[in-house]
Amino acid sequence: MGTVDRDVPDFMDAVVNFAPKDYRFSRETKVPKKPENGILVKVTGCGICASDVKCYEGAGRYWGDSVNEKWVQAPVIPGHEFVGEVVEISEKDSDRCGISIGDQVTSEQIVACNNCLYCKKGKRWLCQEHDIYGFRKAVPGAFSQYMVFPENSRNYKIAKSVEPKHAAYTEPLACAIHGVDRGRVEMGDTVVVSGSGAIGLGMLTALKVENRASRIIALDCSDERLEIARNCGADILLNPLKENVVDSVKNICGGYGCDVYLEAAGNPASVIQGIQMTLKGGRFVEFGVFKDETELDWSLIGDTKELEIFGGHLGGDDGYQKAIKWLESGLIPVEQIVTDEIALKDFIQGVDVANKGSHGEASSIKVVLTP
Ligand SMILES: [Zn+2]
Ligand SMILES: [Zn+2]
Repeated sequence: MGTVDRDVPDFMDAVVNFAPKDYRFSRETKVPKKPENGILVKVTGCGICASDVKCYEGAGRYWGDSVNEKWVQAPVIPGHEFVGEVVEISEKDSDRCGISIGDQVTSEQIVACNNCLYCKKGKRWLCQEHDIYGFRKAVPGAFSQYMVFPENSRNYKIAKSVEPKHAAYTEPLACAIHGVDRGRVEMGDTVVVSGSGAIGLGMLTALKVENRASRIIALDCSDERLEIARNCGADILLNPLKENVVDSVKNICGGYGCDVYLEAAGNPASVIQGIQMTLKGGRFVEFGVFKDETELDWSLIGDTKELEIFGGHLGGDDGYQKAIKWLESGLIPVEQIVTDEIALKDFIQGVDVANKGSHGEASSIKVVLTP
């Protein structure tokens, strides 16, 4: 059974998602019990993802529509970009995972079933069941003071030299790392990263830290964000509101275009310009999440350019390990990426700030809730 070394209360503060725009904060949510093979964690910070905002607003990808089955299982505590401190862990698990009481930890956002076709293929991030913390009954998230990392969860220790609000950036950074991997970027490539939000900035960082590309170009509609992009590793900054970025990228690349385009803006215009500015035989990676559909002449992909198109989702196989290592070694200007820290009880304000930030109406990039 679990080893308890400090007092865990019976009730905690938590936000519960009941329905779109019906998320309720309560001080009387029951603290979850540590399951036999699981860890009880005291949450110290949880980022608000674009997906949290879209779920709050009622997007069909979460709540179901003509093309999507309903995936969210409300009522559920949201939050998948978290960090916390181990409060209860069995000796057996402690030995097995190398994690002890008091350690700063996170857990991969998806708790894979280990049984489906995808899990058996070694692609647990595509797991059929798709239990991502904060969306599904089996895995309540971290907009709360305590949470459980259940059996099957993949858990990681993060050095305490990384502040909790910065450690909460592990999840988006892991996703960004996977996105770059999908583009199979090689030395000599000119890579364009579209969107300097939490994912795009993470992609720039990954390109820089791993010394993957020869030339890194960042696109964003905010000059302020582009300055942060520079600090993350971009060599060239282009603002689509101020210039024709398709022409600019082609000019920079001797009239041809970029080798790889990483789409992290989630905006139809970004997709179209990306297809236009990628050279023949080039690679296009889609990582953004969209509100609107994109209309595009697909003959550009086949008949005209013979492009390679890749999708990217979650952190892949080793995104978390790399993200944690880079955060611990201070390779990332994370203090410029985590722009806002908001108290859990003010989560509505947090969602609003995150939403405005993603639409360029506020300068915030990553909002972290503190319980
Ligand atoms: Zn996320
Ligand atoms: Zn599975």
